Amino acid sequence: VRLPTASALQRVSRCPGSLRLPVVQEETEPAARGTAIHAFLAAAKDAGRDAALDSVADEHRAACEAIDPALVAMLDPVTMAAEVAYAYSLGADMARELGRGLSREQAYAGAQPGELVGTADLVWLEGDCVVVLDYKSGRGPVAPAAMNWQLRALALYATTAYNVARARVGIVVARPGEEARFDQAELDALDLSDVRDQLDGLIRRARDPQAPLAIGDHCKLCPSFDLCPAQHELLRVAVAAPEKLEGEFTAALSNGGRAHAYEVWDNLKRLTARLGDRLGAVASYQPIDLGDGRRYGITPGAEKVADPALVRSVLAEVVCLEAAEAAVTKVEELTTTKAAIDKALRAQKLKPAQRDEVLGRLRAAGALKRGEVLKEFTAGKAGEEE
Ligand code: SF4
Repeated sequence: VRLPTASALQRVSRCPGSLRLPVVQEETEPAARGTAIHAFLAAAKDAGRDAALDSVADEHRAACEAIDPALVAMLDPVTMAAEVAYAYSLGADMARELGRGLSREQAYAGAQPGELVGTADLVWLEGDCVVVLDYKSGRGPVAPAAMNWQLRALALYATTAYNVARARVGIVVARPGEEARFDQAELDALDLSDVRDQLDGLIRRARDPQAPLAIGDHCKLCPSFDLCPAQHELLRVAVAAPEKLEGEFTAALSNGGRAHAYEVWDNLKRLTARLGDRLGAVASYQPIDLGDGRRYGITPGAEKVADPALVRSVLAEVVCLEAAEAAVTKVEELTTTKAAIDKALRAQKLKPAQRDEVLGRLRAAGALKRGEVLKEFTAGKAGEEE
């Protein structure tokens, strides 16, 4: 059984059996955003906010801009270190830095067998106290700093590595569309000794070949989700014998029963979303025959505007400038829709055949494009417009 990284400890504490399952590495959108935010903050510490924003990919810039500038201004290139990776030996109670600013793969390649590893987003020393900060930007559950396994373990690794007696740990939750929130906790020598004992107990439990699998909200970020026998069993019951799940919901009379039913329902949503993704991938390659002439696969989607500027120039050429300006508006950039084009053509009193001809010219110019949509359809009708 492999050893968990600090960021996996929270999940392992809820589902000790997860440690023995294989891991499927998938770059999800929230994970990519988290990586971009970490890189932005590391760069902002050294080069300042504006320069760091310049190097952020377009799709992640809004998320980085949303982080409180006051927080970013607080980053100090001299005293603070970003992306600090540690290795910690439970048996020897010794820790060391593996590197700074490295990818997880690069940093953890330097760990010895049996060493626990973890990476702190931001670290600095204040006398005999080490401060460890972590940023979270995804939608997964985030435990408060005082009970956060990842932060508590990093506090243990960092205090041991620097031979200091205390730690302050903080967590910044910066999610798109939400106000950032901050939570922190202090750990003294006694607390750190508890962390070590609890970590020892957790690793022992997780290494037990009989360690149980436990479904819950922690499954959201589990890299073994697709290979998890507990999820497969739930899916099997949901598909083959849904009446067996009824007990989960009739148990919803007590509060504990309601909470459990909620967890089951929440997990089933996640499971069906994954199942939908997998079936979609198969159906994109070849439609699935559902019987009775029904198929599930790729069909032509609604026609959409591909290039507003091209719409404008074609309309100006084949209808008139007035129609072009009515159909395509400009606030910061040119925008239009099929509905706006149709309205502008009707305002010019064009007959249906004339409107069709203009739309044909727009299609021929590449200003309108038809997308694709994955859905159930009847064989022979897949080409019909929605
Ligand atoms: S998906 Fe959930 S139950 Fe399965 S291993 Fe991961 S955390 Fe445990």
